[in-house]
Amino acid sequence: MIPSPYSNNGLPLTLGILGGGQLAKMLAQSAYRMGLRVAVIEHGANSPAGMLTHLEFSDGWTNPDALQKFIAASDIITLENEFIDIAILEAVAEKRAVFPMPATVKLVQDKLTQKETFAAAGIPVTPFSVLASPSDAVKFGEKHGFPFIIKTRTLGYDGYGNATVQNAEDCSKAFLRFVKGGVPRKLMGEKFARFTKELAVMVARNRRGETAVYPCVETVQERHVCRMVLSPAPVDGALRRRAQDIALACVEAIGGVGIFGVEMFLTEDGEILFNEIAPRPHNSGHYTIEACHCSQFENAVRAVCNLPLGSPEMTVPAAAMINLLGERRGAGTPDSVTDMLRFSKASLHLYGKSEARPGRKMGHITVAGNSLDEVRKEAEESAEALIW
Ligand code: ATP
Ligand code: MG
Repeated sequence: MIPSPYSNNGLPLTLGILGGGQLAKMLAQSAYRMGLRVAVIEHGANSPAGMLTHLEFSDGWTNPDALQKFIAASDIITLENEFIDIAILEAVAEKRAVFPMPATVKLVQDKLTQKETFAAAGIPVTPFSVLASPSDAVKFGEKHGFPFIIKTRTLGYDGYGNATVQNAEDCSKAFLRFVKGGVPRKLMGEKFARFTKELAVMVARNRRGETAVYPCVETVQERHVCRMVLSPAPVDGALRRRAQDIALACVEAIGGVGIFGVEMFLTEDGEILFNEIAPRPHNSGHYTIEACHCSQFENAVRAVCNLPLGSPEMTVPAAAMINLLGERRGAGTPDSVTDMLRFSKASLHLYGKSEARPGRKMGHITVAGNSLDEVRKEAEESAEALIW
């Protein structure tokens, strides 16, 4: 039995968040707006989310004492990052309701298991295979063609676990590169998807199985990192609906509870292929704060608290989001935001990270408006006007 958020002995329920980064921060902001309380556990004090609450446990979840205090302070627990040791998550779930469920997180942690699960559920994926040795990789390339992608099965993010290989020599190099603490990482091969666009769809699903499917967006990656999101994706409406159907089918196939980001490829022949799923708020859904009736963060809170979901529909015809990636090492806030804020339709989000590093996600800008051309221009120009 999950406690009702609003009848916890007269006190609002406390949502515990494993992780204190920007996703946790925006989750917390939604939770606060709904009258809930928030506990945050993160390694290090004053994380973007940790600084919002006095229920901040800054020794991190690998510290048993901090973890017990965090559990005691929380009524329901969610996460902002799927790379948590599954044994720890399972131990937490013995004491408190955890959503997404540990079984879901475990499945998602391994990209091979993800692809096997969804392929078995009839969801289209690019051909893939486990790779145990460089010669396995060469055989994969001979069968499916070079270049193809070698991925670490676990702990990959922002493209860090991916290598595009052109030939046998690259295969050997990838096996040498993907070693952690002297131990070779588990690898898989994926046929190179010749995509014309990358698409993503957010799906919220609560414990009762009610779902909310967000619009299909285009994500634009630069050097494997999301740079911009356009909503709705500038593709045919039938393709957008197909992407929404695939994303919903993925979340239903695993009985996921919470909010999920489903990444897909639109290929040259108009096919949509599943790429990967994230069991948490996702960068491709940040625009929903300004552009949808109910944001991905609020629906995440509603889903894990087993409340009815809000409408994922857009309230405007178009929205663009641009990530503000660190350009240098130094302070986490820009030197000047004055010129940027003169773009009066642009919403600035700064995560409050203490330090910037090249490529680190420091914040984002969203513009909601009447056409993709208009919002994209305002988002790009306003991001340019920030002085770091
Ligand atoms: P992120 O954290 O950025 O979402 P990740 O590190 O978990 O990602 P993926 O999403 O698997 O890795 O891949 C990152 C990017 O690499 C994709 O967005 C896409 O641009 C490219 N990519 C991944 N798999 C393939 C593929 N099979 N064919 C072509 N490009 C691919
Ligand atoms: Mg990805």
